[in-house]
Amino acid sequence: MFACTGYAATAAEARLAPFSFTRRDVRPDDVQIEILYCGVCHSDLHQARNEWHNTVYPCVPGHEIVGRVVETGGNVTRFRAGDLVGVGCLVDSCRECRNCRDGLEQYCEVGFVGTYNGRDRQDGSITYGGYSSAVVVDQSFVLKVPGNLDPAAVAPLLCAGITTYSPLRHWKVGPGQRVGIVGLGGLGHMGVKFARAFGAEVVLFTTSASKVEDGLRLGAHEVVLSRDADAMAREAGRFDFILDAVAADHDINAYLNLLKRDGTLVQVGAPEEKLPIAAFSLILKRRSFAGSLIGGIPETQEMLDFCGTHGITADIEMIRMDEIEDAYARMLRSDVKYRFVIDMATLQPTAG
Ligand code: NAP
Ligand code: ZN
Ligand code: ZN
Repeated sequence: MFACTGYAATAAEARLAPFSFTRRDVRPDDVQIEILYCGVCHSDLHQARNEWHNTVYPCVPGHEIVGRVVETGGNVTRFRAGDLVGVGCLVDSCRECRNCRDGLEQYCEVGFVGTYNGRDRQDGSITYGGYSSAVVVDQSFVLKVPGNLDPAAVAPLLCAGITTYSPLRHWKVGPGQRVGIVGLGGLGHMGVKFARAFGAEVVLFTTSASKVEDGLRLGAHEVVLSRDADAMAREAGRFDFILDAVAADHDINAYLNLLKRDGTLVQVGAPEEKLPIAAFSLILKRRSFAGSLIGGIPETQEMLDFCGTHGITADIEMIRMDEIEDAYARMLRSDVKYRFVIDMATLQPTAG
């Protein structure tokens, strides 16, 4: 075991605070990583505040990790000390079920092990995430980071990137399609970039008038203010595909009504409350409503390599570790431009 420092929530109502803990020494297949940067996902906030009603405290969030390998176990062949690597939302799965064999570990039938708030399959301990100085992960769940990209701006690709890349690929979004992205936050801004890179006609839906220019700069062909009822009415029945990345309660039927016949709306945003769907929103035009969870390890590597080739990273705002609660507050005000990333060099060693 070795000593780590980090930030943890100790209860749903508690502010994140410095936290000392230990991590396991490397097992034969493990990689020990010194964390350089960790992105701040809205899921971290949902989890820290128990909005999904399954948080185990203390909870060290963070699943958009970029760091350097410092040590490897005896069986590790893919990595060596000094390599720049990434860890996303997954650190293990059963590796035997149909979904794991298909490289879709996020849908593991036994249940994947989350980077935080998961349970280690070997020793039963609760996993702690990337708001910390170091992490130990099985080599099969460690990603190679392209060397030509800014490592801090790569961190958000490990969740926001793959969560938007995967459904856009699965539903074969591309040229000739009119595609909507709902919500310009961490996920949404990556959705805009990927949909544009895949050749679609991209329309951003935002509640924030202040984000129109940024939406266009990030790659949208058009920006629609979703609180403008006339503007929304003009878009009815015009979309092949819509990706909804909204973190809060909102009217899902307003977006289903924008789909063409046989269009699909994929929900990736995970609000605490249920989203009520009117049957006729789907029936009238044979529309589909679907969901998608992050992405598997092979596709995450494919996404990182795609980003390396095309020079794609997140637009980030770097913060100090002790600014995390301010970042959460801004996130709740939809004031993220467009992903906070913690500079882990600002994590002070804690006493005791
Ligand atoms: P974020 O950075 O906070 O972005 C969310 C955006 O949603 C906001 O910037 C805002 O964009 C819009 N929004 C917020 N409140 C709204 C409201 N009341 N009505 C309409 N729009 C609203 O969050 P994120 O990190 O991108 O995460 C988004 C959601 O995806 C979270 O629920 C997160 O837990 C979930 N998530 C899911 C997966 C998955 O695998 N499915 C993976 C990661 C995250 P505008 O200002 O443009 O309106
Ligand atoms: Zn996330
Ligand atoms: Zn499995």
